Amino acid sequence: PAMRDQEGRFRASVAAIDTTAAGPRRSHERPAIGDSFENEADSDASLPATRAWALQHLAADPAPLTSPDLDQVEQVEEVVARGVAASEQWAALPATRRAQILREAARGMARRRGEMITVAAAEGGKTVEQTDPEVSEAIDFATYYADRALELGAGASLHSDGATFTPGRLVLVTPPWNFPIAIPIGGVLAGLAAGSAVVIKPAPPTPGCVEIAAEAVFEALDAAGVSRDVLQVVRVAENEAGKALVSHADVDTVILTGATDTATLFGGWRAQRDPAVGGARVYGETSGKNALIVTPAADLDLAVADLVKSAFGHAGQKCSAASLAILVGSVGSSDRFRRQLVDAVSSLRVGWPSDIGATMGPVIEPPHGKLLRALTTLEPGETWLVEPRQLDDSGRLWSPGLKDGVAPGSFFHLTEVFGPVLGLMRADSLEQAIELQNATAFGLTGGLHSLDEGEIDTWTDQVEVGNAYVNRHITGAIVQRQSFGGWKASAVGPGAKAGGPNYVAQLGTWRAAGLPT
Ligand code: GLU
Repeated sequence: PAMRDQEGRFRASVAAIDTTAAGPRRSHERPAIGDSFENEADSDASLPATRAWALQHLAADPAPLTSPDLDQVEQVEEVVARGVAASEQWAALPATRRAQILREAARGMARRRGEMITVAAAEGGKTVEQTDPEVSEAIDFATYYADRALELGAGASLHSDGATFTPGRLVLVTPPWNFPIAIPIGGVLAGLAAGSAVVIKPAPPTPGCVEIAAEAVFEALDAAGVSRDVLQVVRVAENEAGKALVSHADVDTVILTGATDTATLFGGWRAQRDPAVGGARVYGETSGKNALIVTPAADLDLAVADLVKSAFGHAGQKCSAASLAILVGSVGSSDRFRRQLVDAVSSLRVGWPSDIGATMGPVIEPPHGKLLRALTTLEPGETWLVEPRQLDDSGRLWSPGLKDGVAPGSFFHLTEVFGPVLGLMRADSLEQAIELQNATAFGLTGGLHSLDEGEIDTWTDQVEVGNAYVNRHITGAIVQRQSFGGWKASAVGPGAKAGGPNYVAQLGTWRAAGLPT
């Protein structure tokens, strides 16, 4: 059935369906700008003060980068050798010590919340509203993976059945720029929790975000007297040096979040390694083309709000973003619904992050290729309900676009564009809507707005996505509650979902008890 992956694991966890489901509250659920981790309860009070702080600092240039910039294969060899050496000390520590260090790193990140928000704005154009929950997510990864480290230390795992776990020596993390804190540091913390050393190559636009988050890890390592080489942040040229790092025999696992093409490229390089070192072990969370279905049984006001949030948060630059709204039956012909949606989209205030009232920030670079096509071109049958406009000379600030009449099988139906455009499609029935939703090569996130339990059941049985959300926006997965990952072309390798129970446990080798090693 659609809800299970190749290994029969429940892929789109039902827990992902209801944000009010019982479960421990994560700090990600409650943006706590500038608040200390220990003092979450008072977070609302500190919000304005921290915003003022962040704004003051937005004017300043980002701090100079400290991570080395490698472009020679020999430099890569040195980094790998240092990491392998440090991994021995790290793996030999008791899991309780590693968990303590991760928790200390969480506190260090909480103390740096304002700084991280500021640098994410300066480097990636990410707004305060978008970065603040991301810092919370990073903190959640630290505490959640610390618990998984303890579980592994105790020899327990959800899928191990008495087998023993040996961590891989080196994990390489190659994160994207769109979540410049949570995704990089999530990979780092998972590797560390497993007992591996980690090398991280930040995405070129956002290295400073990674450096600041890593600083919290270094501080925790220093305090525990553990070598900083356990974590190395290196910028690496996309030449032979980059290829050497990705395909290195001592790099046990590569955690990649990015384009499906990059994951395929990395997998190809690593498949050519000596077979003795094991499989390609590329765990990739990749592209998406995500749709939210709205049926006549929906709370339409809620659907409008969730569509706008899902489509235009961080200017649509999320793998999880809603790119399509599939309107079933009378929703598609409802003037009221269309007017509300047009009003909501038109009222987004676009600006640079230094404009604290901005609800949508810039795109990462002047659009080209698929995004430019989506922003400037109508395919046959399409019309603009809200036409996007370029707002300044930077080429990066665009008002949001809403297009109607996206045709089945068309460019906009099937192609990820990664920017602020939402397209509307029509379906006669829920079944037809699900077919349109499942027709893309991808399967990352998907949503349904309907208050009808029968419709919810039908949809959850049939939708082919990693993260299925009912009556909720489709971005912003919450650690532990909504572990995050895709299937079909949205995932590469057998990787478990980030922020879920098996993510750390996949970063090593399992051997059945009693067998020779
Ligand atoms: N985890 C993020 C979310 O749930 C998406 C990550 C991505 O865009 O790669 O919205």
